[in-house]
Amino acid sequence: MTDLWIGTSWKMNKTLDEARAWTTGLVDALGDSAPAGIQPFVIPSFTATTTVRALLGQDSPVLLGVQNAHWEDAGAWTGEVSVPQAKDAGAQLVEIGHSERREHFGETVETTRLKVAAALRHGLTPLLCIGEDAQVKAEGGSSAFILEQAAGALDGLDAAELSRVVIAYEPIWAIGEKGRPATVEELREPFAALAEAYGDRVAGLLYGGSVNLDNAADLLGIEHVTGLFVGRTAWKLEDYLELLRIA
Ligand code: PEP
Repeated sequence: MTDLWIGTSWKMNKTLDEARAWTTGLVDALGDSAPAGIQPFVIPSFTATTTVRALLGQDSPVLLGVQNAHWEDAGAWTGEVSVPQAKDAGAQLVEIGHSERREHFGETVETTRLKVAAALRHGLTPLLCIGEDAQVKAEGGSSAFILEQAAGALDGLDAAELSRVVIAYEPIWAIGEKGRPATVEELREPFAALAEAYGDRVAGLLYGGSVNLDNAADLLGIEHVTGLFVGRTAWKLEDYLELLRIA
């Protein structure tokens, strides 16, 4: 069986001191190896990437990511960070297409496709986020919508490339302060649809959105779910460690 991916993006949170405290605590708790069958990952802000890498060490069982990266390798793209730069700073994963980037920063299906390709080109793991809003859900279009987002971002990949991609299904109505936790029932159909389209062909099918210590076990029990992508609950290290225990 594939490892369960259990990880967090810190979004635009944590000072370097806070990043150090979280990471040092994780390293102390885990030692040299991850719990059996678990693939932990952490995605700090760009400013903390090298700090977190230094504390994790080079051979850490915890994968390190960035929350975004440009599709070009270098150039006149003020304010952007490229995949080679992220890799140089120690990243192994690139989060792509989070709904906050789609909503506030003009991320489109086409830019997610370009970014997935850039991550793969440089040997990093693309963590592609997809998810529908409340209106699409109310109209019954959830599965069709997320399949279209995924197909657009993964267009043109061969089987070997696809096998390196992780997909995180994060319904917009379920994430962040404005979201409400999804029920297991609500998630069965979208995950069945994703599994039919991608199943064993990708490295993981993760769920994200208001994961907490009370619902994590049930969410991990949903057929085809191979991990959790966690925001708020994992920002407190003790709760992230508890999630690893639950998994
Ligand atoms: C997210 O925004 O991707 C997310 C999963 O956040 P939270 O767990 O805080 O809902």
